[in-house]
Amino acid sequence: MPGKIAEYSELLRSGKISSTELTKAYLDEISASNPKYNAFVSVDPDRALKAAAKADKAIKNGEGGLLTGIPYGVKDNIAEKGVVTDCCSKILENYRPTYNAAVIEKLNAGYAVPLGKNNMDEFAMGSSTETSVYGAALNPVNTSFVPGGSSGGGAAAVRAGMATFALGSDTGGSIRQPAAFTGIVGLKPTYGAVSRYGLIAYGSSLDQIGPMTTSVEDAAVVFDAISGSDKRDMTSSPLSSPVSDKLTGDVKKMRIGYPKEYFEGIDPEVKSIVESAFSFYEKAGATIKEVSVPALKSALPAYYIIACAEASSNLGRYDGIRYGIRASDYDDVNDMIMKTRSMGFGKEVKRRIMLGTYVLSAGYFDAYYKQALRVRESVSEAMRDLFASVDALLTPVAPTTAFPLNYTSENMIETYMSDFCTVPVNIAGLPAVSLPAGTAKSGLPVGMQIIGAKFREDVILNAALAYEADHPVKTDMGVRI
Ligand code: GLN
Repeated sequence: MPGKIAEYSELLRSGKISSTELTKAYLDEISASNPKYNAFVSVDPDRALKAAAKADKAIKNGEGGLLTGIPYGVKDNIAEKGVVTDCCSKILENYRPTYNAAVIEKLNAGYAVPLGKNNMDEFAMGSSTETSVYGAALNPVNTSFVPGGSSGGGAAAVRAGMATFALGSDTGGSIRQPAAFTGIVGLKPTYGAVSRYGLIAYGSSLDQIGPMTTSVEDAAVVFDAISGSDKRDMTSSPLSSPVSDKLTGDVKKMRIGYPKEYFEGIDPEVKSIVESAFSFYEKAGATIKEVSVPALKSALPAYYIIACAEASSNLGRYDGIRYGIRASDYDDVNDMIMKTRSMGFGKEVKRRIMLGTYVLSAGYFDAYYKQALRVRESVSEAMRDLFASVDALLTPVAPTTAFPLNYTSENMIETYMSDFCTVPVNIAGLPAVSLPAGTAKSGLPVGMQIIGAKFREDVILNAALAYEADHPVKTDMGVRI
């Protein structure tokens, strides 16, 4: 895998390489590898090289920071001014935002180098990156398998060494599960830690942008660069603080919870690899405590009700008038909206809009939506209580390794169910990191998840750093400088 951000930054600062050279190396790698993995859906070499030239100038003037001159990928649902950002959906074909997302503003201000847009499930609804209008992304570890989803393109790009890092979004696991399936690191920040301004909404009360990287240290660096409060996102919070300088890798005295509900229904090989991580932490001086969150079992149905309800409302804006495409033959405005939405949205998006509309409709609102909000409250409360007696929870990320291609379309319910380890974190607004735990006999990566209390990204990344130092991931893919 390519170097870490800090290593590249050092090479850039010392003048051993320029950002232009580094960016060209990444663009060459994309030309060579992207046809195999379909991780990027658009790449703009001119824009990247212009940004690299700016970064080189900044470095000469002693400006910028750790991300100056570093090439990265952006999920196709994060707005970049003038750059097609279509959520991998037909309905937003050729949509070019007129403004930058808050995270892009921050990365631009630090002279990072955007390479292009990463593939994703349409509107971030999915777990395999197969519902993209651009076709499926493939897992670089083994191309008979998916890279996970919905941020599967970013995960594949990072794993294959086509980007130093990628920005993903996580509504119910979309950063963590692809990270686990491809053997990289993914951080879902605390709800409110990173501005959602410019993130095309799926489930607004659950969505968070976060980094996908090859190392824990890089995840911390990117988190520090993109986090912070923002007036334009009313749910953004001033409580988050930088984490990079707090990471020591020392887990002595750390209290780690083993939440037993998370280990039920997990593939035996995945289970035993994740469970062996507890022995590592114990040896490193942490205390392990078995804990129980009975409310957890209801988190999955609550998630799908809330996420679909919010999606049905958020996606109401795609009416053929304000954004994207419009059907050509129609009788009146209603017919136009109906035809545009019928041809513009894919099957899975339509299914979720219908489910969401159903649970919000009169007569069902109390039975489904209100009930889901109650479950949400009880999961959040149970989690809050838990973090009084433990510092972190250690769990699997997904019950299996990566799905084979075409599995999800034929096994929709099983695919929804496979989110049960990741969605409670979004329901409760907590931070969680997914990192490589080991490798299955098939050669596919197995991930593990460390969940923390709100705004304690430092605690979970510190625990992740300790494990990573002892279990390095080796690969020969990608750019080498
Ligand atoms: N797999 C989940 C879903 O389909 C998560 C999606 C996400 O986090 N964007 O809803």
